[in-house]
Amino acid sequence: MSETSTAALIHDVRWEIDYRVRLGRAWSRFMRGLRDRKLLASTCDHCDRTYLPPQSYCEACYEPITRWQECEPVGTLRTATIVYQGFDGGPQAPYAVGAIEIDGTHSLLMHFVGGVDLSDVDAARKALRGGVRVRAVWADERTAAITDIAHFAVAPAQP
Ligand SMILES: [Zn+2]
Repeated sequence: MSETSTAALIHDVRWEIDYRVRLGRAWSRFMRGLRDRKLLASTCDHCDRTYLPPQSYCEACYEPITRWQECEPVGTLRTATIVYQGFDGGPQAPYAVGAIEIDGTHSLLMHFVGGVDLSDVDAARKALRGGVRVRAVWADERTAAITDIAHFAVAPAQP
């Protein structure tokens, strides 16, 4: 018997994963900075690329990175998506996630984007278009974790 249907198969899968992650020196320094409301980036001495999240080695020229700098917690949203189907243990849907280029850096930080009414899909898409300016909103309680930034808020449109 051969399968001739082209309909997609559906598998029910359940994942429940507990894990512990060693962040390494660069990410540990980055997270401790977040606890202190500081956004820290690393810059390659060889090619001047600046990474945020920081890296210990340059992904462009593979040189070790030792130079650090504090960045203003503002940047440009390069792309975003709206999540309407959440998952166990995650934030309550709907929520938006974006790729943010912090000013002065050459990489993208993935984080939640807030301050946008997600109930109106068309308006939300316009509000989350690439190129809009965003600013970090710090969490009231910080624990040296990426969630020390509650989200990035879309800056009000300029008149
Ligand atoms: Zn480099």
